[in-house]
Amino acid sequence: MATDTLTSPPALGSSTAPKVYKNFIDGEWVESSTGETFENRNPADTRDVVGIFQKSAKTDVDAAVEAASRAFAKWRLVPAPRRAEIVFRAAEMLLERKEEYSRDMTREMGKILKETRGDTQEAIDTAYYFAGEGRRMFGPTTPSELPNKFAMAVRTPIGVCGMITPWNFPMAIPSWKILPAIVCGNTCVIKPAQDTPLSTFNLVRTLADAGVPHGVINIVTGFGSMVGTPLTEHPEVRAVSLTGSTAVGRIVGTTAAQSFKHCSLELGGKNPMIVLDDANLDLAIEGGIWGGFGTTGQRCTATSRIIVQKGVYAEFVERYVDRAKGLKVGNGLDESTEMGPAINEAQLKTDLSYVEIGKSEGAKMKCGGNRLDQGEYQYGYFMEPTVFVDVDPKMRIAQEEIFGPVVSIIPCEDLEDGIAIANGIEYGLSSALYTKDVNKAFVAMRDLHAGITYINAPTIGAEVHLPFGGVKATGNGHREGGMGAIDFYTEWKAVYVDYSDRLQKAQIDRID
Ligand code: NAD
Repeated sequence: MATDTLTSPPALGSSTAPKVYKNFIDGEWVESSTGETFENRNPADTRDVVGIFQKSAKTDVDAAVEAASRAFAKWRLVPAPRRAEIVFRAAEMLLERKEEYSRDMTREMGKILKETRGDTQEAIDTAYYFAGEGRRMFGPTTPSELPNKFAMAVRTPIGVCGMITPWNFPMAIPSWKILPAIVCGNTCVIKPAQDTPLSTFNLVRTLADAGVPHGVINIVTGFGSMVGTPLTEHPEVRAVSLTGSTAVGRIVGTTAAQSFKHCSLELGGKNPMIVLDDANLDLAIEGGIWGGFGTTGQRCTATSRIIVQKGVYAEFVERYVDRAKGLKVGNGLDESTEMGPAINEAQLKTDLSYVEIGKSEGAKMKCGGNRLDQGEYQYGYFMEPTVFVDVDPKMRIAQEEIFGPVVSIIPCEDLEDGIAIANGIEYGLSSALYTKDVNKAFVAMRDLHAGITYINAPTIGAEVHLPFGGVKATGNGHREGGMGAIDFYTEWKAVYVDYSDRLQKAQIDRID
C-alpha cells in the first residue's frame, strides 16, 4: 500500500489540524480533481472534526474505474483461494484494530461503542466467511445428452463493480460488498456515504495492508450526484451495488439499466414486530426497546412499528414507555450511553417533523418528541426517544420510514389482524413475532411478507452468512450475505467439452 500520513485523528480540544484524507486510486492516496474538500464532523459534538475528505467529481471516478479495469486483467487470474487468503489476513488484522476502528466509527457516526464494535465485528465475520468461500464457489457438473461430452457451469467474475454505501453501518455494509466481490475476482470502486467515509477508509486500508494489489479496491469520496451518478453511468462498470434509500435506489436502478449492469439495491424498511397475548412480555419489551432505539432508530431493520394484541396492549404500552423514558441519551464514546445522536441536522429535522406529523394525525405521543439541546447536548443532534401509541396503521408515521428514534405502537385483534397490519406497507425488509405458540410462529414465518422474520427476537440482528435483503420497495430481489453475494458478484458460464472426435449436434443427434 502506498504510504500516506494516515494516522488517528487528533483528540478533541487538540490544536492539531484535522487529518486530510485523500482518494485511494490505483494504490495511491490522491487529491480530487476539484481541489475541494468537505468536513466529517462528530454528530455528538460538532466541534470535533473527524477528518477532511475529498469532494470528488466525474474525473476522479473515471481515474478510479480505469485503475480498477487495469487491475481486473490480472486479479481475475489470481486463483480464488489465493485471493481469499488475503481476505483472511485482513480479518486477523481487523480483529487487532477492532477497538481503534470502533472508536473512530462512534466519533464519525454517533452510535454507541457497543454497536460500533458490533459493526466492526460484522466486517470481521464477513471476511472470515468469504475467505472460506475462496475454496468453494461451487458450480454444477452435469451429464451431457451426448456421448463422450462433458458439461459443467463455472462462476466467472463480472469486472469492475461500483459500490455506493449509506452511513448507518459504515464498515459492515462496505464489507458485505467489497469482500465477496474481490474473492470472486472482481475489482471495485466504492463511494462511501459523505457522513461516514473514515470507516470505509479503515476497512480498505486494512485490506491494502493485508496485500490486496493496487487498483483492486479504489475509494472515491464525495456526494451522490457528483460521484454516485458518474459511477452508476460509467460504461466500464459492469455491476452496481447500492445500499440506501428507496428514492435513490429508484434513480440508481434506472440509470444502471441503461447499460445493462448487474444492479443490487438494498433499500428502506418500516419493520413490524407483533406481540401476541401469550408472549413473554419482559422479552418483548426488551427486544422492542433494542430494535426501536438501537442505532437511534437509524437501521434499515429498525423496529419502527410494534403491533400489540389487545389483551396485553395496556400493560405493554405502559412498561415500554417507561423503559423508553429511562434510556440514557448521549455521546456514544461514554460506555454508559444507551442511545446516541441523529447522524446530522437534516436527519434530526426529519425526525422532529415526523413528531409533528404524528401529532397532527391524532396519534398519542406518550414520551419524547423534543430535541435535546441543553448542556452537553448543545453541540450534537440529540432528541428524546419518542413513542406514539394508539397509532392507526394508515397514518404516515406508521407507513413511512422515519429513520430516527420514533416508534409507533399499533393495537391488533389477533395474529391474522397483526399480520395484515404488518404487511400493509410498501416495504418488506424485516419482521418479528413474539409468541409461545409454535403453530402461530409457523404461520407468521409463512405469511409475513418480508425478507427476514425473527421469532421471539426484534427485527434487528442479522448474521452474515444468511441472506440479507427485502421484498417490495426494499430492493430488487438480490440478497447480500452468504451465497446471495456470491450469486451477485459472479456470472455463470456453461462449458462443454466434446471428446468424441466428431461433430455431435445437441437436440438433433438422437436415437429415437
Ligand atoms: P441515501 O439514499 O441518501 O444515500 C445512500 C448513498 O447513495 C450515499 O452514499 C449517497 O451519497 C448516495 N447517493 C445519493 N444520491 C445518489 C444518486 N443520485 N446517485 C448515486 N448515488 C447517490 O441513504 P442514507 O441516508 O445514506 O441511508 C439511509 C437509507 O439507507 C435508509 O433508507 C435505510 O433504510 C437504507 N438502508 C438500507 C439497508 C438495507 O440493506 N436494506 C441497510 C442500511 C440502510
